[in-house]
Amino acid sequence: MPGIHHVTAITGNAARNLDFYTRVLGLRLIKKTVNFDDPGTYHLYFGDEAGTPGSILTFFPWAHAARGRNGVGLAQTTTFRVPESAIAYWAGRFVEKGVAHEAVSRRFGQPVLAFSDPDGLSLALVGVAGSEAETAWQGSEVPLEHAIRGFHGVTLLLDDAKKTEAILADVLGFTKTGQEGLVSRLVADGALHGAVVDLREVGGFLEGRMGRGSVHHIAFRAESDAEQADMRRKLAEVYRLQATEQMDRNYFRSIYFREPGGIIFEIATDQPGFSVDEPLESLGQDLKLPEFLEPRRAQIEARLEPLEVV
Ligand code: ZN
Repeated sequence: MPGIHHVTAITGNAARNLDFYTRVLGLRLIKKTVNFDDPGTYHLYFGDEAGTPGSILTFFPWAHAARGRNGVGLAQTTTFRVPESAIAYWAGRFVEKGVAHEAVSRRFGQPVLAFSDPDGLSLALVGVAGSEAETAWQGSEVPLEHAIRGFHGVTLLLDDAKKTEAILADVLGFTKTGQEGLVSRLVADGALHGAVVDLREVGGFLEGRMGRGSVHHIAFRAESDAEQADMRRKLAEVYRLQATEQMDRNYFRSIYFREPGGIIFEIATDQPGFSVDEPLESLGQDLKLPEFLEPRRAQIEARLEPLEVV
């Protein structure tokens, strides 16, 4: 099944980030680990109960990162699905919790409530008819009827959308389903969560600068290693894009490449998932390390600020 696997963004403060995504947005912390390439910093994963692909938003907390700037070559907005009837609840909740947000608008016929996280990361809730029947994490203070049902999708800001669109359609399993102003909508065939990629083409607009409050990369789903290898081959042969070798991320296996618009794309396998190193019931409670970092656990833990799971 195609679609978005996860989105990874940059935050300045791990404790504030954890509080916002679990307490305010009602997501589950599904994994507390470190950045495998930079083990002195956390890597926090939020999602639904099990961390289903299409529900996973992850963060690198980099305390000294400068504030990012939205612009071409970056993902502009990450959106979540909620029941249509939940939009009013969330607008009220954002007022109550002091969350920066905009008035409700409509895009592609659906209500959209745009808001920002404490680092200025651009987010939105999209009211999706019928999504009330989908499962959601029930361990937060957000009532089930209003809770987030995984990703709706992402909006990418591009100078020229054509080549990005070709890769999404030809390699990643998306089909163009509509156009509204400058925005082309592509939808992953058959996917429920994380099915939407909107391409906003703004030729000549300021280039984005990655930093705190920016999306770092977007990961798309591969069903298996074989499918991922096929995608890798196609990227090289048809598009002259060389993806990295496969990297073992413990919870999935990934390759990375920069798409023609400048955004970092990852292709991650659905397997093995987040229950590979701790039981489903207690996901996110303990600091988990990959095997190659276990010998350095004491040293790594000493450098990380303690985080309290709510
Ligand atoms: Zn990733």
